[in-house]
Amino acid sequence: MYEKTLAEQSRMLANGECSSTELTKHYLDRIARLDTDLNSLVSVDADSALQGAEDADRKRKSSAPSNAEMPLLGVPMVHKDIFCVAGGRTTCGSRMLEHFNAPYSATVVNKLNDAGMVMLGKANMDEFAMGSSNENSYFGAVKNPWKRDCVPGGSSGGSAALVAARLAPVATGTDTGGSIRQPAAFCGLTGIKPTYGRVSRYGMIAFASSLDQAGPLATTAEDCAMVLQAMAGFDERDSTSSNEPVPNYMADLDKPINGLKIGVPEEYFSAGLDDGVATQVRAALAEFEKLGAKLKSISLPNQSMCIPAYYVVAPAEASSNLSRFDGVRFGYRCEDPVDLDDLYTRSRGEGFGAEVKRRILIGTYALSAGYYDAYYLQALKVRRLISDDFDAAFKEVDVIAGPTTPTPAFQTGAKTDDPIAMYLNDLYTVSANLCGLPAISMSCGEVDDLPVGLQLTGKHFDEARLLHAAHSYQQTTDWHRRMPAGIE
Ligand code: GLN
Repeated sequence: MYEKTLAEQSRMLANGECSSTELTKHYLDRIARLDTDLNSLVSVDADSALQGAEDADRKRKSSAPSNAEMPLLGVPMVHKDIFCVAGGRTTCGSRMLEHFNAPYSATVVNKLNDAGMVMLGKANMDEFAMGSSNENSYFGAVKNPWKRDCVPGGSSGGSAALVAARLAPVATGTDTGGSIRQPAAFCGLTGIKPTYGRVSRYGMIAFASSLDQAGPLATTAEDCAMVLQAMAGFDERDSTSSNEPVPNYMADLDKPINGLKIGVPEEYFSAGLDDGVATQVRAALAEFEKLGAKLKSISLPNQSMCIPAYYVVAPAEASSNLSRFDGVRFGYRCEDPVDLDDLYTRSRGEGFGAEVKRRILIGTYALSAGYYDAYYLQALKVRRLISDDFDAAFKEVDVIAGPTTPTPAFQTGAKTDDPIAMYLNDLYTVSANLCGLPAISMSCGEVDDLPVGLQLTGKHFDEARLLHAAHSYQQTTDWHRRMPAGIE
């Protein structure tokens, strides 16, 4: 059953060809067999998953909702361990929260519960969502199912690895600077980061609040559309959540994309881009042309400023958000502190990993008196210029296309000693977060047996168009259907 997409499983459940209990057992069995090697999940709660599946089966019998009403009823899924789930453990990949039990559930968790989805467990991730390789987790690195000595990407690397290995048909992720799209690209999946404010951040542990956004990772755009439909919408508990109505993401999926104007920024095909990736991405763009899209060369003049701006803004916000982990209110507390200072310094010193500390130091520095103007304020100004570039481009085109990442997945350990090399992975993804724009990554080829991702960035609240374009591409290509070897 694992070869089926979420949409296919949804139809099978609706037609009575399988039950949620069967499907859930199938995936729990796969997790038990395959995840000892991959390390993609940090917790699995088989009892509560089976209970959820039983409830879904009962509901299907008693009230027989149509598939249009409850398409996700009984479909198994996994949440990134950044989403609070009441009653369970929520670690955010950190020793700081190793034993943290959230008193309430995130809105995303409640919404997917209400849609009838069955949570199998929680996915491994980079600590506090900081990273591009999933090597920063307190619970150990995650392996890429395509090549076990390569990284799955980060920070939603557990989510990506487990969907690629078909341990669940879909997983949630979060994306602050690329953490849905980059792991989706590295693992051959489809992943969408919605417009800032489209999905509630309530109960999602904060990294950089002006950039964070949640979304699904699945094998197809159609599956992403189905799950995003249930995740999206206004939430009065998130003050930055948008009350823009949520359109029906499924409605136009099968229409032709004739006349879609795709902008191709020349800056995306310059230094730093792997030749193999460039070739695959160009081939995908040619496929879009065959489907009736029009390509137009455009320019995003401030592209080279994206990484510097992001790596000031994100750590600045992180340093502020993470100040709440003080050894008093949440999570880890050091043993036998001699006084309050000792409690703070040792709890934070022992509870956080190296990358998190690096970000807190950079962020605190950038926000400190005397440096604020030179770094943080400057980064905000650059952020505006980048945003203006996109606004100008979107006057001429509907979507902007390019590679999701400069290279395919790299070897585990290859960049751990060089933070700058690691940060350069995010070259093409951070701009969507800085500008609050939606962006989707889809698999569009392979280089040395590793998947390559194509990214489409859209106008604010234009998720439907991105999903539509990706779905059309997936009707005439089969990259999204490919599976890593050894996951049978
Ligand atoms: N790789 C980026 C970082 O390390 C993005 C992380 C994310 O999107 N959560 O900050």
